[in-house]
Amino acid sequence: MFKTLCLFLALTPLHAVAQQLAITFDDLPAHGPKPASVSRLQIAQSILDTLKQQHMPPVYGFINGVRTEEAPETLDVLHAWRAAGEPLANHTWSHPNFNDTSSSQFIANIEANQPLLRTLMPAASDDWRWFRYPYLNEG
Ligand SMILES: [Zn+2]
Repeated sequence: MFKTLCLFLALTPLHAVAQQLAITFDDLPAHGPKPASVSRLQIAQSILDTLKQQHMPPVYGFINGVRTEEAPETLDVLHAWRAAGEPLANHTWSHPNFNDTSSSQFIANIEANQPLLRTLMPAASDDWRWFRYPYLNEG
C-alpha cells in the first residue's frame, strides 16, 4: 500500500498552485507629513513611474476624498493616478476607525466617497467598487 502511494505521488505531476497577490496603495491622495522639497504630485508620479518601470499589473489606489477638500491641489494626484492607467477605489471619505464609529456613520462615510470615485472612474468598465477598511479594522 505504501509503495503504491509513493509511486502514485511520484508519478503525479505537481501542479503549480495559482496564487494571486494584489499590490495596492492606501490613503491617496495624501497621508501624513511630507518633505517640503517635494509635492504630493511628485511623490505620486515617482510611485507611478516605478510601477510602470516594473511592468506592474493595475495597482489600485484607495482614496480618502476629504483630502481633496482639505487641499484641493491633491486632486492632481488622483488625476495622475488615472492618467497612468491605474484604478482607484474606496477607503472611506475621511478614514474613520470602524471600531470607533457606528455602522450607520461608517456606511455614510463610505458613500460620501462615491461621487468622487464616479467622477474619477467614469467608464462603465471602471470598477471602483472595491473597499479597504481604514486601519484594516473590520469591526
Ligand atoms: Zn488608510
